[in-house]
Amino acid sequence: MIPIMAPFVGEAEARAASAVVMSGWLSQGPEVAAFEKEFAEAVGSEHACAVSNCTVALHLALVAVGVKPGHEVILASHTFIACANAVRQCGATPIFVDIDPDTFNLNPELVAAAVTTRTKAIMCIHQMGMPCDMAALLPIARDHGLAVIEDAACAIGSEIRFGNEWQRIGRPLGDVACFSLHPRKLLTVGDGGVLTTNNAEFDQLFRLLRQHGMSVSDSVRHNSRTVIVEEYPLPGFNYRLTDVQAAIGRAQLKRLDDIVRRRRELADGYYNMLSEVPGVKAPQEPAWARTNWQSYCVRLPEGADQRDVMQKMLDQGVATRRGIMCAHLERAYSDAEIRFPLPESESAHRGCILLPLFHQMTDEMQSHVVHSLKEALSEI
Ligand SMILES: *Cc1c(COP(=O)(O)O)cnc(C)c1O
Repeated sequence: MIPIMAPFVGEAEARAASAVVMSGWLSQGPEVAAFEKEFAEAVGSEHACAVSNCTVALHLALVAVGVKPGHEVILASHTFIACANAVRQCGATPIFVDIDPDTFNLNPELVAAAVTTRTKAIMCIHQMGMPCDMAALLPIARDHGLAVIEDAACAIGSEIRFGNEWQRIGRPLGDVACFSLHPRKLLTVGDGGVLTTNNAEFDQLFRLLRQHGMSVSDSVRHNSRTVIVEEYPLPGFNYRLTDVQAAIGRAQLKRLDDIVRRRRELADGYYNMLSEVPGVKAPQEPAWARTNWQSYCVRLPEGADQRDVMQKMLDQGVATRRGIMCAHLERAYSDAEIRFPLPESESAHRGCILLPLFHQMTDEMQSHVVHSLKEALSEI
């Protein structure tokens, strides 16, 4: 069976985790601090704050930019449901705007019309690792005084040309970027998240809120020779990452360049092979973006039944996934106000499938995937 994704972990991660266990300090401590420093260096941001997952990172980012009950946040529905959930967790309303069918990302041309007096922020989701059109989105945010949160859950190692310079996603171009370390993404620690920002006050706030609003961390108190009594200036949360996970994360970061390089090689392979499968549209990068190919999303020919193709491929030992979900089509959002039509979001969700792509994938496996897709489509 060829899986949709497989984490690229091994001895280095196992040794790192083991060393932390043997050290006797397992919760947030020196490994988290070191991981944060290395993560910030990897993406080029001034600050990085590690948390339990990307969903809580999005929550903290929204809190930091001041999203409160009554506010609206503009985002795509065509994304993992955690994005809309994080907005709702702040008591705010997600306002869904349609996507560009080529990049699967928020269509900047539709964003300005969605801004109201209640709008507080735009959540730019770098879907499947493909950078959003930040050059078009940032001026809209600036003109309307809106905060910009980048959902970079999938985008570690992706690059964007901004001005005349290529830079990694996460520096960030908006106010805050949020990354995920779930096994479905390029780097994983089981579950984990990171917030990057160049705003020192936001970073301080993230650090306070992730540990119950506590002014002094437990590792600092543990190592102090004088008595320290902590204070709680704000009500916070427990959104901490553990040192065991951070140690794994440090080992994973060392593999990033290698993983991105191999994924790009495999994506090129798909692009070439898929040109021989009639009617299938392979994804392409705009001139200003280099994706990490977190997911490889192909559009099926008109008339092909998504579930049927997926089942036929599964019968051939190939796991696939449906196109990216749409939050507004799920029961959890059946009561949501849908202010704008979302035809491209729905069409991408229903008409696309994700093909397997992982570091350890061989060229033979890839040929088999394309062959099974061709077979599945030959019968329609
Ligand atoms: C995976 C993902 C998330 C959630 O990340 P977790 O770390 O699992 O909470 C959020 N947004 C997008 C776009 C994702 O793909």
